[in-house]
Amino acid sequence: MYRDPKAIWLREVVGRAGFATPEAFSAEFELKPYRIEQLYRAAMRELLGGVEDVTTLSLDLRARLQERGIRFSTVEPVVVQRSNDGQTTKALLGLRDGKQVEAVLMEHREGRTTVCISSQAGCAFACAFCSTGQAGFSRHLTATEIADQARFFARELRERGKKITNIVFMGMGEPFHNYDAVMEAVALLHDPNGMGIGHRHITISTVGWVDRIDDFTNEHLQVNLAISLHAPDDETRGSIMPVNRRHDIAELMAACERYVAATKRKVFFEYVMLAGTNDSDRHARALADLMRGHLYHVNLIPYNATPDAPFQGSSDERVWKFAKILEDAGVPSTVRHNMGTDISAACGQLRVETQPKAQRLAATPAF
Ligand code: SAH
Repeated sequence: MYRDPKAIWLREVVGRAGFATPEAFSAEFELKPYRIEQLYRAAMRELLGGVEDVTTLSLDLRARLQERGIRFSTVEPVVVQRSNDGQTTKALLGLRDGKQVEAVLMEHREGRTTVCISSQAGCAFACAFCSTGQAGFSRHLTATEIADQARFFARELRERGKKITNIVFMGMGEPFHNYDAVMEAVALLHDPNGMGIGHRHITISTVGWVDRIDDFTNEHLQVNLAISLHAPDDETRGSIMPVNRRHDIAELMAACERYVAATKRKVFFEYVMLAGTNDSDRHARALADLMRGHLYHVNLIPYNATPDAPFQGSSDERVWKFAKILEDAGVPSTVRHNMGTDISAACGQLRVETQPKAQRLAATPAF
């Protein structure tokens, strides 16, 4: 299904200013289509701060647009922290209604720059080890609220002569629970006339919602799919991920097989290493059995300890032993490099640290 980035952007920007339709907006300001194009490019390609900076428009028009509430960004930084090594920058971003989400910029030594963005304020899936999951669901983000997190960092990178090369949907929220807005955000991020990030450089990470994996398969996009597996058997997975009670591992793996068969694209499996929970030799062998013979890749993730979850990360030695068992079984895996631990850069952590406990919502599992 084709999604028109300019139309998505315009609908949201004028909608927020109170216009019923983009047509009503164009009519009020007597804007020809090329003016709309100029506004869109100014926001999403030239990354200008707001209408006041669009010098191709008359001063009078800029003032009137500004007055009428046309704004380029939906996010405002509340807290921005940079890790000691300067490679990781984490932003707590405020939305118009006061909700807050996190986004993280990782500047890798070899020049790659990855931005991790949120798709929801909070999350309904209640994974036991995840700060966001423990805090509960607040609301879905819109497409521009999602894309604006990347725009925020793109503007900051530009000051240093750099660009975003990769986007991962690994911040707060479950992207496939907010499917349409996430797909629209992908269209905004991808648009060669806008932010211009290639589909192959975008990764969506999901808790494993099977119906939406099938929808995603049918999009036939080159966007990467990552599955938060975290355990190779239903008992273990069910104990840390409530979603497994709705879609068990057999169902999830069948959906992944359909995806690979239809797209010929690799699936990435995330596996956060939790001491004594999912990191035994037995778990490693069971994981290898699930993975072997498919176009699958395992990312072993060191656990970022969160103050409110009763887990500890596996020791380095355990992680390497686990990886060795996968390797010996012929299953490709990577141990993910931990970045930004000094600024609590794991999902949901900054928000948790900056907000009083009483303000947090109760966990509201979807299942
Ligand atoms: N809802 C999506 C994206 C969210 S987070 C999903 O579940 O995939 C992205 C990844 O970070 C997921 O694999 C998630 O399980 C993992 N994660 C959550 N909390 C973590 C923590 N404290 N340490 C390490 N990884 C964590």
